[in-house]
Amino acid sequence: MRNAVLLIIMSSVFVWAQTSPLSPEQRATFHGRQSEAVEPFRIVGNIYYVGARNIASYLITTPEGHIMIDTGTKEMHDVIRTNVEKLGFKLQDIKILLSGHAHFDHVQGHAAMKRLTGAKVMAIGEDARALEAGADLSPLGDEGWEPVKVDRVLKDGDTVMLGGTTLRAVLTPGHTPGCTTWTTGVEEKRRPYSVVFQACGGPNAGVKLIGNSKFPRLVENTLRTFQVQETLKPDIYLPMHPETYFAGKVERIKAGETPHPLFDPDAYTKLISETEANFQKRVQEERAKAIRIQ
Ligand SMILES: [Zn+2]
Repeated sequence: MRNAVLLIIMSSVFVWAQTSPLSPEQRATFHGRQSEAVEPFRIVGNIYYVGARNIASYLITTPEGHIMIDTGTKEMHDVIRTNVEKLGFKLQDIKILLSGHAHFDHVQGHAAMKRLTGAKVMAIGEDARALEAGADLSPLGDEGWEPVKVDRVLKDGDTVMLGGTTLRAVLTPGHTPGCTTWTTGVEEKRRPYSVVFQACGGPNAGVKLIGNSKFPRLVENTLRTFQVQETLKPDIYLPMHPETYFAGKVERIKAGETPHPLFDPDAYTKLISETEANFQKRVQEERAKAIRIQ
């Protein structure tokens, strides 16, 4: 029995080694350093940071219960639980669980969080399939997670509403086939802010872009994603790996500085055009390589 288990573990490590561009060291930092505990804080309006050092989990609170975006790695489960309670909120008040994209570092905690809170899981079609399969069905093809039932399968443009808060799901495939850019609006000191949760760039480094059998329309879909994102123009964007982005700003946010330390209407457009330029470069390099081989 032990040998059989060992064999399964070894063969799955072997499969990742064969198919995933993530190195064992990279994977270890996701489960280790990036999943370490940090203090939770209110970011803007009713949006709170309850995630780990460099893997986000966002809590959006309402008088009728709360919405959580991303549950992180399995190691982050206790970090998130503690953070929600530290802020004075009840885990049982979390009613809806969302995700930016179905990769292990963002959804591995979904099943445990659903069990703990009874929250409804909602996700866009292609990513919903991965959540329920417990497997990374994207071109990254890395670690899986405990399968979790999706209570509501969403389409591009669908909204999720709770207690006066509305989130809109914008289908922005590329990083995963169902990658979702969540948008919402909040108010802070009587000023409205539009907010984007930025979970969808290009595919991970090392992923084959042209003619990828797991995602045949990867290149055209990703290019379309950038076009869609360029139209969003949020006042504030919130990334899913926020350590560098938040560095030096958390204390200023906590102090209530105005304008809000994350307020920068040009920052998102700049980020998207840089991400797009990097993606175009990768596509060109892959094309050049294919020509050389021929
Ligand atoms: Zn990812």
